[in-house]
Amino acid sequence: MSIIVEQLTRRFSPGGSPAVADVSFHAPKGAITSLLGPSGAGKSTLLRLIAGLEVPDVGRVLIDGVDCTSLPVQQRNVGVVFQSYALFRHMTVRENIAFGLNVRKQPREEVEARVDEMLRLVQLEALGGRHPGQLSGGQRQRVAFARALAIRPRVLLLDEPFGALDTRVREELREWLHALHESTGLTTLLVTHDQQEALEISQHVVVMSDGRVAQSGSPEDIYDRPASPFVASFIGGANILRGHVQEGRVAVGSLALAVPPAAREGEAVHAFVRPHDVKLARMVVGGRGPSPVLGTVERLKSVGGFVKVLLRLPSGDEVTVQVPRTEFDELGVTEGDAVHADVRTATV
Ligand code: ADP
Repeated sequence: MSIIVEQLTRRFSPGGSPAVADVSFHAPKGAITSLLGPSGAGKSTLLRLIAGLEVPDVGRVLIDGVDCTSLPVQQRNVGVVFQSYALFRHMTVRENIAFGLNVRKQPREEVEARVDEMLRLVQLEALGGRHPGQLSGGQRQRVAFARALAIRPRVLLLDEPFGALDTRVREELREWLHALHESTGLTTLLVTHDQQEALEISQHVVVMSDGRVAQSGSPEDIYDRPASPFVASFIGGANILRGHVQEGRVAVGSLALAVPPAAREGEAVHAFVRPHDVKLARMVVGGRGPSPVLGTVERLKSVGGFVKVLLRLPSGDEVTVQVPRTEFDELGVTEGDAVHADVRTATV
């Protein structure tokens, strides 16, 4: 059951800029596809268009090859989970999970059996009699998943499902969703602004910015070959250096990056350098060739197991380098020190 979106546009006010602008993508069958982007990028609107909760001005939505663009939400047979649990507070967990089945007037025994199955699937067998108010945030969200899955949806649409939870529960539920997906194999679309979440649990990523698709591909494509400075900095906080092509390399001041640029000799290009792709060394090793280059440590900031080093290159460019704490302690540098910086990988 793949999801295909063709040239979708949704404008909330006439003449205003569209929330979703000419978006096309393909969410492959059986995979988790993330819609990733900053707040306001149009991710939720896109998901709501696919669910049938919004109507597009232009474009089509195909689920499993069937054009659903003009079908109401009940006829699309999609499971939806939102950030705010949207559970019925006056109903028990069992009644919440049974809701969609009762709406569809399924026989009582079948409903009960399906609810039991769903409670087992989300590992809440013991809590069927409780009300949502008696559950933790993570448990409530698992009930929301059980309710969405009970109707045997063709696809699962998730809008920041872990957004309201604290970091630890979020990480637990991420693992849980991964396992759930392995056991159901459902085509899943996940809206998230968290690049770590997208890279960790999805097989396909659609990066959105200003209502448009900035890039789509596998997590590796997005991370290793960002299509624009926006994608490079949004995913993994790459340093963006402006340089030009010189003898098959990218020259940034005196730094020559060994990346094969597609551009012609002399042309201006952006090079992207990940914070963990720069190796710092204290000693001046009189290196041959253009790299390593010398830089000055401008600022140090400790972040958990890492130290962020803000380096000033001779070109005047600033580069943020991320050094594991143990490596940093061995390096023994302080602010104002000169260091050698060996750029291990860069992309253009
Ligand atoms: P995201 O999910 O990426 O944060 P949204 O899809 O929620 O982005 O919003 C995209 C844009 O559309 C924003 O500028 C938002 O203000 C606007 N928007 C979303 N829903 C509505 C609505 N119901 N009415 C008017 N504008 C809306």
